[in-house]
Amino acid sequence: MNYISTRGQAPAVTASQAIINGIAPDGGLYVPESWPNIELDWTQLQKQTYADIATLIFDGFFDDFSVNEIDCVIDKAYGKQWTTEDIVSYHQADDLFYIELFHGPTLAFKDVALQALPHLMTTAAKKQGLDDGIVILTATSGDTGTAAMSGFGDVQHTDIVVFYPEVGVSDIQRRQMQTEPAHNAHVTAISGNFDDAQKAVKSLLSDQSLAADLADKHLRFSSANSINIGRLVPQIVYYIHAYAQLVKQHQIASGEAINIVVPTGNFGNMLAAYYASQIGLPVAQFVVASNENNVLTDFFNTGTYDRQRTFKVTNAPAMDILVSSNLERLLYFASGRNTEEVREYMNALDEQGHYTLKPSTQANLSQFKAASASQTEVLKTIKRVFEEGNYVIDPHTAVGQYVYNQLDISGTTILAATASPFKFADTVLNALGETPLNEYDGLKQLADKSNVVIPEQIQLLFQRPVIHTQTIAPNQMTTVLRHQIF
Ligand SMILES: *Cc1c(COP(=O)(O)O)cnc(C)c1O
Repeated sequence: MNYISTRGQAPAVTASQAIINGIAPDGGLYVPESWPNIELDWTQLQKQTYADIATLIFDGFFDDFSVNEIDCVIDKAYGKQWTTEDIVSYHQADDLFYIELFHGPTLAFKDVALQALPHLMTTAAKKQGLDDGIVILTATSGDTGTAAMSGFGDVQHTDIVVFYPEVGVSDIQRRQMQTEPAHNAHVTAISGNFDDAQKAVKSLLSDQSLAADLADKHLRFSSANSINIGRLVPQIVYYIHAYAQLVKQHQIASGEAINIVVPTGNFGNMLAAYYASQIGLPVAQFVVASNENNVLTDFFNTGTYDRQRTFKVTNAPAMDILVSSNLERLLYFASGRNTEEVREYMNALDEQGHYTLKPSTQANLSQFKAASASQTEVLKTIKRVFEEGNYVIDPHTAVGQYVYNQLDISGTTILAATASPFKFADTVLNALGETPLNEYDGLKQLADKSNVVIPEQIQLLFQRPVIHTQTIAPNQMTTVLRHQIF
């Protein structure tokens, strides 16, 4: 099974090449040329562990990896660094099932993929006979950078370079970045917002003289952002796992369609749910939940994507995004795999800042529903969910919960709970009507209020020294990067 570019002007590659390349040379994203044939036998699947299901899905999508190679990756990715035995856990409120994806090292769903990606990447490099060192370059709105450092930290032949915006990350996220101990991690704050950081990183990735210098030193760039197919595939696993658990608990009959609500930024997590449906997961509706940066809400409701709007720093910062990269992959499938059409949309987005779908393409997106939550609604939702069910959710999950309620979704529904409330303790405490205390005291305050113990991953953070404290302007990034890796 090969991977091809959504823009149709790059050669087809194997899974391992797609993982190494990250983005296709024509600027498109890699998509599977055909869907792998994976047998989803729910009677069997409900007896399997998370790692078993991960093995099944990885084997299907990464078919040039040997069984042994996949087993090694899964062993390393889904081991003792998780504080739940089965990687994810569930919380039920009537028909709504929260799938808690935040029990990994950095307390956000990105760990699910980023604990696997480094091992997929180093294995892929070995398979391709590359002995270049891999430099992971990432702009982060908070969660990607920390999860990427946790995954790539101290992995041989890799360097991990993270730029995060000075404004818009939570105290815990900042502490996670500033105290990262891995010898191969380089972390720098930049003055500006996430879009500024992302733009600057994109220009570094296409900088020819930098690329030449890297090649001289036997290094190559790759990406840990969710455009990498090695990040998307691990996210398919938990939707399959969730469905199998629902069947096991007799919440649904085998084959019954469910809804999936995902708080969205770069559209990676939502796209993984769509991929799951394409290999046989029964889904009725995909519910796309946005914060005040509601470019995707407008897109799904009108067929027009328009990035020309004011970027907002919100209380769900991991979703503060105006150009949602992974949507390109959905356009590819919605257009009937029409790469020329995708190219037109992406060129228009680049040049005019907007595009409008052809009616026939838009019609293929009828399973998608979308709405958004304001910052005030996020706070009210955290309070309401706590009062109704004694359950504390983080601001991103609250965006999803609000939209679920607002759109009046009926039937069994999975909501991706994407971060631990402790990661955004100040916002959550404010929502619950408390005046947040500083730092660790604030976490204790949240633990007391919610009757949930402070996750040990956070306890550890307060024992690590602060090492990375530099803040730079976006135009200094090239210089700083050269210092870090050469
Ligand atoms: C990254 C992130 C999101 C958005 O996920 P996408 O795959 O970019 O849509 C939502 N919530 C949290 C907590 C995140 O870290």
